[in-house]
Amino acid sequence: MSSQRETHVVTFRVDARGRKRVTLIPGDGIGPEVTRAARRLVEAAGVDLAWEEHAAGAQVFKAGDPTGVPAETIRSLEETRVALKGPLETPVGYGEKSANVTLRKLFETYANVRPVREFTNVRTPFSGRGVDLVVVRENVEDLYAGIEHQQTPGVAQCLKLMSRKGCEKVVRLAFELAVAEGRRSVHCATKANIMKLTEGLLKRTFEDVAKEYPTIRAQHLLVDNAAHQLVRAPEQFEVIVTSNMNGDILSDLTSGLIGGLGFAPGANLGADMAIFEAVHGTAPSLAGRDLANPTAVMLSAVMLLRHLDEHTAAAQVEAAVHAAYARGHFTGDVASAGALGTTAFTDRVISLLAQAPDGWKPRQVAPLKIPQLSTRADFVRVESRRVGGLDVFLETSATAQTVGRALEEFTRDGPLRLKMISNRGTQVFPTTGTAPDCVDHWRCRFVTRSDSHDLTDAEVWTLVDRIQRHFRWMHLEKLQVFDGAIGWTRAQGEGEVPGA
Ligand code: NAD
Repeated sequence: MSSQRETHVVTFRVDARGRKRVTLIPGDGIGPEVTRAARRLVEAAGVDLAWEEHAAGAQVFKAGDPTGVPAETIRSLEETRVALKGPLETPVGYGEKSANVTLRKLFETYANVRPVREFTNVRTPFSGRGVDLVVVRENVEDLYAGIEHQQTPGVAQCLKLMSRKGCEKVVRLAFELAVAEGRRSVHCATKANIMKLTEGLLKRTFEDVAKEYPTIRAQHLLVDNAAHQLVRAPEQFEVIVTSNMNGDILSDLTSGLIGGLGFAPGANLGADMAIFEAVHGTAPSLAGRDLANPTAVMLSAVMLLRHLDEHTAAAQVEAAVHAAYARGHFTGDVASAGALGTTAFTDRVISLLAQAPDGWKPRQVAPLKIPQLSTRADFVRVESRRVGGLDVFLETSATAQTVGRALEEFTRDGPLRLKMISNRGTQVFPTTGTAPDCVDHWRCRFVTRSDSHDLTDAEVWTLVDRIQRHFRWMHLEKLQVFDGAIGWTRAQGEGEVPGA
């Protein structure tokens, strides 16, 4: 397995006047109001950025662009490599992909960094616990790769795709973040006990990379336990690295720990791209009414300032936001009585610039070193490999016994034998005594009779040709053995695989 440890500190681009260039995407719903608030605050802190405002989201879809991200926005991002972005709506009924996902994939922002830190006077069941943690969510792979198929009229599948390269990038970034922020521990939350090859890959990568950071305590825990621990004792966590869907859920949970979505900033980071945005969405019921809480985008702007090497201004802005809460200034999501609108709240924060609340300790943050991994597609290479079998997925309303006996008959001669049939992951042939409520979607597992045989495509087609005369098949999966290790998991109830 290959890996390498190289990092770089992101550089930024400047305009003719020497100002750092930033693409500004106001976005939809409350986006224009909260990004305007963040921009005012940055300007009031004395940082003169070259903002390049560009569209993305609902209006772009409605104008007939099915990507939701116009070419001029992409061009600006390609040039500036850094953006502050409002939330984008994916209009239902237009049939388009999410413009957010398009941006993440286009610029390979593989890590989504979501910090939360407790606010004085924002009352939650966790007040006083000192919550101060970061969720680092893998941002482009996993179930969110969007590879879904309707395999029978009643059975759908979503492919959970995870790569060693994707895991290694996000895990290395989590450790580098811990180093940059002076944090002492990194947890990795997975479901490796159930999904041994996908979630297990993240766990194994975490354990490998952790060895290179001996001063940081590295601990794996199952994601269900992570959810439990986050509610029971959130103060024990500093950095949590996790897969895309788990991170999506856990980071909404962690924003709830400190007061809700109005408080949770975020950054989408890639090798040479950084898009800063709040965790929250467009909040349509608040849009255009000067009611939204701009805190999450303001704190996203703090992350942007650090990225642009504006550490003094970042610390001032962060302190001012916390000072506003310490002095009891709130928007309507925190307190109904005396609540301020978006603009008035922003005015108060600006008036408090550089006035840290009592006891406020700014975090000393060093520039984040972004991991640089090989861009080779074959990131992991092996010495030996063979195809040791075949999973054939069938659609039929026949019984497991009928299908099983027929398939045994088709493989009486030849290199393959039927090992078992499973229905939604549980072995149903040969029977193991369980009686699952079967659906018309069968996974039929064939393995080679000999330990050393490398199944050829011609042998695959011979078997499939026999099967298709009797059954409708919808999917084939080769069972691969890499460097002697089997590349598949066993069904519930399935025995060892001799000859793997
Ligand atoms: P949402 O985050 O917009 O709203 C959830 C709840 O939180 C609502 O009650 C809302 O009023 C409240 N809320 C959110 N931000 C707030 C703020 N700044 N101040 C005060 N209250 C706030 O989530 P949703 O309703 O599920 O989604 C609405 C739209 O946003 C959808 O179209 C969704 O696709 C989109 N969305 C976009 C992003 C993004 O662009 N990154 C993220 C999430 C959702």
